[in-house]
Amino acid sequence: MTDAFEHRVLIMAPTARDRELTAALLSEEGIDSCVCVDVDEICAEYERGAGCIILTQEAVLQDDRQCLHDLLEDQPAWSDVPVILLTPPTADHSFILKRLEMVGHMTMIKRPVQYGNFISTIRAALRDRKRQYKIRAHLADREDQAQALQQAVEKANAANVAKSDFLANMSHEIRTPMNAILGLSSILARSQPLTSLQTKYIETLNQSSESLLMLINDLLDIAKIEASGIEIKSIPFRLDLLLREIADMMASKAEEKSLNLSLDLDHIQGRSFLGDPARIRQIVTNLCSNAIKFTVQGHVTIIVTSKDKTGDLCEVAISITNSGMGISPEKLSKIFDKFTQADNTISRKFGGTGLGLAISRTLAELMNGSISVTSDIDKGSCFVLQLPLMDNPHMASEQPSMPRLAEVYRASGKVLLVEDFEANVLVAHTLLEQFGYEVDHAENGRIAVEKAKKCRYAAILMDVQMPVLDGYSATRMIRQNEAEAGDVPTPIIGVTAHAMAGMRDRCIQAGMNDFISKPFVASELQKKLGNVHRAE
Ligand code: ADP
Repeated sequence: MTDAFEHRVLIMAPTARDRELTAALLSEEGIDSCVCVDVDEICAEYERGAGCIILTQEAVLQDDRQCLHDLLEDQPAWSDVPVILLTPPTADHSFILKRLEMVGHMTMIKRPVQYGNFISTIRAALRDRKRQYKIRAHLADREDQAQALQQAVEKANAANVAKSDFLANMSHEIRTPMNAILGLSSILARSQPLTSLQTKYIETLNQSSESLLMLINDLLDIAKIEASGIEIKSIPFRLDLLLREIADMMASKAEEKSLNLSLDLDHIQGRSFLGDPARIRQIVTNLCSNAIKFTVQGHVTIIVTSKDKTGDLCEVAISITNSGMGISPEKLSKIFDKFTQADNTISRKFGGTGLGLAISRTLAELMNGSISVTSDIDKGSCFVLQLPLMDNPHMASEQPSMPRLAEVYRASGKVLLVEDFEANVLVAHTLLEQFGYEVDHAENGRIAVEKAKKCRYAAILMDVQMPVLDGYSATRMIRQNEAEAGDVPTPIIGVTAHAMAGMRDRCIQAGMNDFISKPFVASELQKKLGNVHRAE
């Protein structure tokens, strides 16, 4: 139905004379009307729009084909056309009501009609109808708004996914040359002789690339958080060992500033929990490095307390306190916002992006925990990471490990380096030679598969993303060839510049034994390859 004639009254009076008289009456009152001779015509006119229908009881009773019934029943949800039913003085109302029970909006007027009553009933019906049209317009607006909102949400989601993809790709592209910078600077640092100035240049080069890498990692985390792509794990781990490791890692930085770094693990000594050690490490490392960064002299203290709750649940609180500059109350509420630093001069003086605390708090919340802070200006700050952790009485404290290289090792001094990026070939080649290996090189997966058929390598260092044939497919083919030939599998270590979760699983699924992410430090690669030697 269109709303072209939404104010029009459709009339079906008992006789032609009645119809004309009614039309003339309405016209005098300024009401637009349309005279219909039977039910079919009412139905046809209704399709063009109607403000109100005046019907007679006879018409309803004669509606054998149920046209009127169907028309009134089919009305849209927002609409219920007012019907004024003219009945003879002795009408059987209950019978008529039964025929018209589908009409929600009916008023009966006995004939002969009272002029005033009749007109005011029509006006009331038209007013009702007007309100219905207003509601329809309102609903249509709401629907448009909801649709626009939905489109905006879809667009924003798509933009977010595109942004995350972009960041993941950029991070891969940046990590790849970064591996060369870090690798070559560590190779240079070990080359002799070096003047003290050259050593300083190399150290600065190294520090700058490490800061750049930290920035990329932070940006990637933010992107993952915004795209809800962070997965929290629940695996067995020893919290005391994890915190000791972090403290050991931080010790040299604290020492450089002559700070006293202490660790109190009494409450959780020897206890194993279920949780996400990688994420807890990330938060605690961030809080500790901030504590060291913002302390000029004095101490940094890490204290862990625990409270057993119902069942196996334990509430662990890791507090990191530092003497130092402190944070003013007005800045305290802002430091957890992205890209916010308590003092704008900080980034120049101490470095940092203002992302660490925002990431840490979100990660803590994803683990159903929280981070709180108290601080006194010129006295120091205390950050507390509170986490509910499940006790793991079965002490499977080691993380599920990769298939041990040791089990599959074949002694030989040649490593196949599969890598397409020339600068990284130079880094890995040099490092491998320094470790004492002979090195063979393949610049893509296909060549690697061919080489692995002909030679029995001590290990294969397999980049996962390469042209022609990627590292996953190459590994699958190598494993298949080995199975067909009945050969002992060659240890394959996947190398990837992707920092996304799930890379480790992808490598294992493809048949690799271990995995290292770029940029790697020399000792890390040596350790991975060293596992092989220990088993000899
Ligand atoms: P970043 O350290 O990269 O600047 P964070 O998000 O980790 O970013 O920290 C945000 C800001 O909070 C810091 O720039 C600093 O102003 C303040 N802040 C964090 N930890 C401390 C601390 N232990 N003592 C004093 N200020 C701190």
